[in-house]
Amino acid sequence: MTFENLDLLKTQAFIGGDWIDATSGASFVVSNPATGGAIATVTNCDIEDTKKAIKAADAAFKSWASWTAAQRAQILMRWRALLLENAQALAEILTAEMGKPIAEAIGEINYGASYLEWYAEEAKRAYGDVIPSTSPSSRAIVIKQPVGVCAAITPWNFPNAMLMRKAAAALAAGCTMVAKPAEDTPLSALALAVLAEKAGLPAGVLNIVPTTKAADVGLELTTNPLVRKVSFTGSTGVGKVLLQQAASTVKKVSMELGGNAPFIVFDDADIDAAVTGALASKYRNAGQTCVCANRFFVHRSVHDEFISKLSDKVAEFTVGRGDIEGNNVGPLINEAALKKVELLLASALRDGASVLVGGKKHIAGALFFEPTIVTGVRAEMEIASSEIFGPIAPVIVFDDEDDVIADANNTPYGLAAYVYTQNLSRAWRVGEALDFGMVGINEGIISSVSAPFGGVKQSGMGREGSKYGLEDYLEVKYLCMGGV
Ligand code: ADP
Repeated sequence: MTFENLDLLKTQAFIGGDWIDATSGASFVVSNPATGGAIATVTNCDIEDTKKAIKAADAAFKSWASWTAAQRAQILMRWRALLLENAQALAEILTAEMGKPIAEAIGEINYGASYLEWYAEEAKRAYGDVIPSTSPSSRAIVIKQPVGVCAAITPWNFPNAMLMRKAAAALAAGCTMVAKPAEDTPLSALALAVLAEKAGLPAGVLNIVPTTKAADVGLELTTNPLVRKVSFTGSTGVGKVLLQQAASTVKKVSMELGGNAPFIVFDDADIDAAVTGALASKYRNAGQTCVCANRFFVHRSVHDEFISKLSDKVAEFTVGRGDIEGNNVGPLINEAALKKVELLLASALRDGASVLVGGKKHIAGALFFEPTIVTGVRAEMEIASSEIFGPIAPVIVFDDEDDVIADANNTPYGLAAYVYTQNLSRAWRVGEALDFGMVGINEGIISSVSAPFGGVKQSGMGREGSKYGLEDYLEVKYLCMGGV
């Protein structure tokens, strides 16, 4: 594997503005899911290193918070420019460690960079309030202040954008950060730190601790009293552990957790548009996003047309290594992910579903799975109640609007949902009735820098992106001026 810019390929931790090895001297290998080959050996941080990073972030906080938002914005905009200049090189690293097609990786770099621009601008408008007083001799004023040291724990499926979405908002608001990237994909986070340093970000404002000891480092990040906020993107199970740990010191928390997105196609839908939306929502990133459609509910009267058109398109996908131009479905991240997909499919088939397209490992390599459509699925099957995180579309037939809303909502999760209908009243009605944080109406791609991303129920709390995302990194302070 060759990289365009080797300066971006870092294997040490970034703590207090220095590139350093873990105190234990331990390291771990990052490998390419498409080939199984080693990419780099990265230092393996533990609790001691994490404490050091938290101290560095704490030491940097007062000064960084005292900069004006416009001064911080200048650094963030320089960082953004460097991201865009190095988009190809960053995308190569991302594809190597994560597997997604290079075009999607470039898209992710641009998406990540868009958060820097958005929050550089947005933080200048962190307005407070003057509240009409209840007493003639006092005045009530509200100001917004940065929360303090923030911890970010990020997943492997968007190793650039998930970190940027948190870091851009936090840093723009005046917070400092310690980030723990996923063990499968630390290189993208470290590459971002190289560019942050180049952009002039002061030492300690952003620290990156690569590690395989996620539970130990996570425990320190969620219990150290110097950390004031924890922002996590990952599975609901880990989120619950982190929430419990963060309770011990009453930290603020943002949780972007798992989903089980329904994708509902009504009889009055534009079927071609629904197929286009389904392809984007289901198979992007080989089905490994938390907003991927996880269960398709298709009205009986359009079922055959929908699955016929969808399978024609699915057959056109080219599966293979992400670094080869033109491939549009890459590998799954690791062996465990592949096993999970195989087990869910086997269980659906045992329960009476059948494979329409795909259905097995792909010859491109050990971690590749064929883009798959499964029909004859029922809402209560395991494949329709577990997060698949792979390129399988389970299709369920429905007849009635109320029933499909009830089935769609019958999940502990509430992240994204999708509805296809040409009927305006139905679009409103169903959009409002779905118990999810985000609903795509005649749209399969909903993530955007300007819109609030987040879930309800066990899909989490807090919002990222948009004007709402800044609030999660700001405290409201009330100043009561007496003796007026
Ligand atoms: P996935 O199943 O998609 O890998 P995880 O929730 O396991 O999702 O991983 C998301 C992030 O959470 C990764 O950075 C991972 O290292 C981290 N993580 C996993 N377990 C823990 C834990 N016990 N404490 C803190 N972080 C953890």
